[in-house]
Amino acid sequence: MFNIKKIYLTNDCKDYPLANEIIKKTGAEFEITDDLIPVMKEISASSDPQSRGKEILLLTENRGDFLKKCPGTKYYRCCNYQILHVGSYCPMDCSYCILQTYFHPPAITFFLNQKKMENELYERVFKSNSIWRIGTGEFTDSLVWDELFDYSKYLVNLFNRQNRAILELKTKTVNIENLLELDHNKKIIVSWSLNTPRVISEDERNTTTLEQRLEAAAKCEKKGYRLAFHFDPMVIYEGAPDDYRKTVRKIFDYVSPENIVYISLGTFRFMPDLKSIIRKRFEKSKIWCGEFFPGTDNKMRYLKPLRIDIFKAVHDEFMKIDKNLCLYFCMEDDKVWERVFGYVPKLKGGLPNILDESVKKHCNVWTD
Ligand code: SF4
Repeated sequence: MFNIKKIYLTNDCKDYPLANEIIKKTGAEFEITDDLIPVMKEISASSDPQSRGKEILLLTENRGDFLKKCPGTKYYRCCNYQILHVGSYCPMDCSYCILQTYFHPPAITFFLNQKKMENELYERVFKSNSIWRIGTGEFTDSLVWDELFDYSKYLVNLFNRQNRAILELKTKTVNIENLLELDHNKKIIVSWSLNTPRVISEDERNTTTLEQRLEAAAKCEKKGYRLAFHFDPMVIYEGAPDDYRKTVRKIFDYVSPENIVYISLGTFRFMPDLKSIIRKRFEKSKIWCGEFFPGTDNKMRYLKPLRIDIFKAVHDEFMKIDKNLCLYFCMEDDKVWERVFGYVPKLKGGLPNILDESVKKHCNVWTD
């Protein structure tokens, strides 16, 4: 999936063996630099910075925290997820990808100072007495890095002998070959973002098909991995409810409900400046067509009754398969919870508690 034309390696990282391994694997031209600002300026000045940023790989150190709380807002129910910030941006190309506007400018970045990350995990997470849900798939794709080196092997071996955290590897790839050989000890959730075949073909360039993702999920399930799925962003178009129902049913041609830890639902939402980027970069995409209104977090959203209708279609289909499946919304308010699920998170101890309970039921983590 990578199409790296140039690698910039910061001077402080030139002795990391992993840097050489990645440079060799890509075969791309590389330059050692003290200053990434000129690189950023060059990307920003290009006619399509989002595409240019996918041709450049920055190998550098993360000077901030590796663990970051997922940025929720006080108006919508948030799940208290922790992001492990291993790198950013991605070689795949989804029209709706918020990373196109989140980083200024976007450039594929990988952090090489893994010892610092390990220390942070040991001190804050592994030694704690609470349950942590941690994922690497918010600022990048979790498994795409396996095309450059055995990253999932490193991560699984880092998490498989502690008892406090699950690591979620969220992806749109099928890069699971490394995972199939590993002793995960039920500390890992492998998850896929799913969508209807129409949305995948129109709005998820350079990714994999629905069937390929589900085949990969089935192989992981056979090796004892716990699974999750994310229907996010759900897109409303003529015929969408039926397409989403069919997609839900298709999951169970491949995997069984009892190994699914959770399933998230969220409709397409975006900061206003994303619209012009989508229109410019994805001429065939119709994702921005529709009536959108600003929410309390300033993101544009479909009207609430429309969101409720599409959520109900998907929720009801899942419930026909198995009433014990743990479904939740990413960033919705109590009214939507009540209308679709019939309860508000507070009644079950809050959304973080709902997800922690499902994790404890399916995975090998506990508190003393
Ligand atoms: S796979 Fe994820 S990170 Fe990559 S372009 Fe698509 S939405 Fe963005």
